[in-house]
Amino acid sequence: MNNMITSSGSQREYTPSDRIQCDAFQQMCEATACVQNSALKRWKENGGKVVGFLCSMAPDELLIAANMLGFRVRGTGSTNTDLADNYFTNLNCTFPRHCLNMAMEGEYEFLDGILYLNSCDHIRRLYDNWKLNIDTEFIELIALPRQTGPDQVKFFTEEFQMIREKLESHFKIKITDDALRDAIKLGNETRRLQRRMYDLRKQDDPPITGAEVLTVMVAGTAMPKTEYNVLLRELLEELEGKQGSGKEYRARLMITGGVLDDPKWINAVEEVGGLVVADGLCFGGRIMWEDIDETIEDPIEALGRYYLADRPSCPRVVDKQEERAEFTANMFKEFNCDGIVGAKMVFCDQWNVENYMLKSDMHEQEIPFMSVEREYITSGTGQLKTRIQAFIESLGK
Ligand code: SF4
Repeated sequence: MNNMITSSGSQREYTPSDRIQCDAFQQMCEATACVQNSALKRWKENGGKVVGFLCSMAPDELLIAANMLGFRVRGTGSTNTDLADNYFTNLNCTFPRHCLNMAMEGEYEFLDGILYLNSCDHIRRLYDNWKLNIDTEFIELIALPRQTGPDQVKFFTEEFQMIREKLESHFKIKITDDALRDAIKLGNETRRLQRRMYDLRKQDDPPITGAEVLTVMVAGTAMPKTEYNVLLRELLEELEGKQGSGKEYRARLMITGGVLDDPKWINAVEEVGGLVVADGLCFGGRIMWEDIDETIEDPIEALGRYYLADRPSCPRVVDKQEERAEFTANMFKEFNCDGIVGAKMVFCDQWNVENYMLKSDMHEQEIPFMSVEREYITSGTGQLKTRIQAFIESLGK
């Protein structure tokens, strides 16, 4: 089986921002607009291994320490789910359906492995259907606890240690503690640079839009971290000290939710006057808000603790809802927002419940919150724009 790059390489039709001209940002636009980006192709051509994952609670640093590229699987560029719908019902979330469809079309042949976490029942089904239909040589499922106490952190740490051993035996490599510590330092460097970018959004007239920020964040899950950090530093040099994104806006908005990797969706919000200056997304604020604790002796334990308990959680975790509401309210205030848009995927039970609870928590603090349903692929943004316009008017803006 050749798992080299296939020529197809579907693209998402999204015009890279012509405002930020620097080459670093243009490379990030390319990495976000397609699955098989140039950095990935270079990595493969140099004999590098790539292991995919779907959930942001997967231990990316473990793959970096194995000298592999951790690649977050997306349905970018997918236009239909015809093949996948032989294995999913139309009551399943469209994110896993588009990911499976792209894999069945050969788009993910370049993967040498894929790590699953049972982050929800829809992803659980994708794991089964991927094993059934896709010829990826290394497929593993990591059991994700629903609570974050010491016992669960210990369990999750053992799961990561098990994956470490399976990677070592399958790929005939050694993943040392020192390599893990170096990978943790590299990942924390990425987070610190991303937080610097988020700090720019606190300005009255930020030099970067929400759609551009999401472009940068998604690119960070699709290319080697060393390369990405160089590009991000270049972009920060370009933006720091600058004012204004040139966008006329009437309200500063925050977006919360799960998988949202399409800048076009944020762009639609910003085209009707809502500048997105903060987010608690799992391709955004939640993956860079905290660092992995580098003082913990055992690096695997540091990963287990971080990915389950230390970073802002998602509704998959049931004992942290109050903490998530606090995180959301604090970010709302810190970025001087006017309102929050809770974006959730159709048929997503977890964010259905979460948005219901978040709405009442935010209203208790007189923070405007609107829940908006979406499909994975952004199309026909008319209805979304109408809802956002009405929401902005309700804010008195
Ligand atoms: S959006 Fe919701 S339903 Fe879809 S994969 Fe994520 S958690 Fe599961």
